[in-house]
Amino acid sequence: MATSLALSLAADGKAPLFLDCDVEAPNAGLFLKPTFEQRSDVSVLIPRVEEACCTSCGRCAEVCQYHAIAVLGKKVLVFSQLCHACGSCREQCPEDAIREVPSVLGVLEAGPAQNGIAFARGMMDVGEPMAGPVIRKLKQWASPGDGQIVILDAPPGTACPVVESIRGSDFLLLVTEPTPFGLHDLKLAVQLGQELSLPIGVVINRDGIGDAEVEQYCGTEGLPILLRVPFERAIAEGTARGRTLLEIHPQMGARLRAVLEQIGARLGSPP
Ligand code: SF4
Ligand code: SF4
Repeated sequence: MATSLALSLAADGKAPLFLDCDVEAPNAGLFLKPTFEQRSDVSVLIPRVEEACCTSCGRCAEVCQYHAIAVLGKKVLVFSQLCHACGSCREQCPEDAIREVPSVLGVLEAGPAQNGIAFARGMMDVGEPMAGPVIRKLKQWASPGDGQIVILDAPPGTACPVVESIRGSDFLLLVTEPTPFGLHDLKLAVQLGQELSLPIGVVINRDGIGDAEVEQYCGTEGLPILLRVPFERAIAEGTARGRTLLEIHPQMGARLRAVLEQIGARLGSPP
């Protein structure tokens, strides 16, 4: 959906900045085929204890909200994968025994993609658990041109990486499917969007399967259904081969444009 909306904008001469925020498994590049020209490592500062200065007082372990530092006898252990790089332990150490050293979490890449789309993505290193800092840095690093629309492709679900991705957006487009599973996740995502005071629209994917409960829920909540994507083998096959919905069904172009127009109308600024 995100890649097709980006191509739809580009076809109208309004090529957007596209940010793939699904940093655990970024795949929008398979569809938009960017040429990466810029790279930047993402790192955070994590503590390193100078043993010669440490008195094993335990203050650092007390203040760490994430159980990322522990004092065992005379030894201080730092579990870097739990560390949120908040700096509290360094600030609170009475002996000034803690230094901060950079730890690389992943990489940012950017470059031009199809039809003039500016593309950027974050990618976490294998085994790194913290997506938040990579997404935050991606959003700071890749800045849009004057008046350029930004499309952020968020990870699925409602966990911290999603919050980090959608925070500060103007509009949240939720893609669901008309099944009990889809409804369950949609309700959680709607709650999250409402917490962040975001206007919300819904796309029903695989329309034609399941039941009418998603539609009823959207009606009750006053959520506009902006698009229905039919349940079709051709779409599944095409996307599996790296083709966007727009490329598989060029006739969807008018409907995708209508989605953008409805979002623009709701925001008071047609795209
Ligand atoms: S707070 Fe400082 S001195 Fe105390 S155990 Fe931690 S590193 Fe050592
Ligand atoms: S920087 Fe923050 S999260 Fe990391 S070990 Fe220190 S107190 Fe814990």
